[in-house]
Amino acid sequence: MKNTAEIMNNALEAGLTIPAFNVPYLPMVKPVIRAVVDQDSFALIAVARLEWIKFEARGPAAVMEEFLKWNEPDHVRIHLDHVPVIDEDNLEVDFLTVMREAIDLGYGSVMVDGSRLDLEDNIEATRQVVEMAHAAGIPCEAELGAVLGHEAGPPPPYEQLFESGMGFTDVNEAQRFVQETDCDWLSVAIGNIHGAVSGALKGEKKVEARLHLEHLEKLHQATGIPLVLHGGSGVKQEYLLAGIKKGIAKVNVGTEIRQTYEQTLSTSNDLATAQNAVYNRTCWLIKDYLGLSGTRSLLLA
Ligand SMILES: [Zn+2]
Repeated sequence: MKNTAEIMNNALEAGLTIPAFNVPYLPMVKPVIRAVVDQDSFALIAVARLEWIKFEARGPAAVMEEFLKWNEPDHVRIHLDHVPVIDEDNLEVDFLTVMREAIDLGYGSVMVDGSRLDLEDNIEATRQVVEMAHAAGIPCEAELGAVLGHEAGPPPPYEQLFESGMGFTDVNEAQRFVQETDCDWLSVAIGNIHGAVSGALKGEKKVEARLHLEHLEKLHQATGIPLVLHGGSGVKQEYLLAGIKKGIAKVNVGTEIRQTYEQTLSTSNDLATAQNAVYNRTCWLIKDYLGLSGTRSLLLA
């Protein structure tokens, strides 16, 4: 069976991308996997630490248990998303313990997020997790630059952020970071932002983001590894599709399906209705937004 690292490399070579769907609520797992199978595509089911702290994912073990109930190994793998070294509320996280737990549970890939640290400390923390992941035979994603949005309070005005290139991943730093950490995939900041997860903001519609494609091209050339776009569901489609051709081999989708689930559940008060809405939205994302229907055999070749 091909592992997640090989499948990701296939995506990079084929100019395709692998969506990673975040599941902050356990009942989202089933309809997301169903959608991926029915679209004959391939995707990751992902959970980030904040989804069991601030939402109802409950933890890496609970998500794994739910995943195994519906698992379709030819279509989905499970990924541990954002385990921050310093979290969105500026608290230190015992990140190595969380990594150990997920790796021992059988997660197929992990992500360490040292992006709130300075470069040296991010390299050091990432290197520790890469070693742990590689010893278990799985790939490790890391983040460099600031993909904003998860912090409490409103983000800075988007246009100002984009024009100034504030928080964008630096090309020289990225080259050095990849060499020194040996990370497998790199999450980059090129105009993308996360959906808000705190307070009243978390139900609001995301700003429509753009991507700085020239900057992406430089990062792609400097690193040569699959690049990851967080905050994928808020990016204007033409930019996203162009980005995929320039090295974005993984796109994280969180807000779009989370809000679909939350809003449908609160209006219908019916779990099956909410799950059905998540199924339909995920199908739409795979087919119409990302154009990935029928790509499974290419990715698993
Ligand atoms: Zn993210």
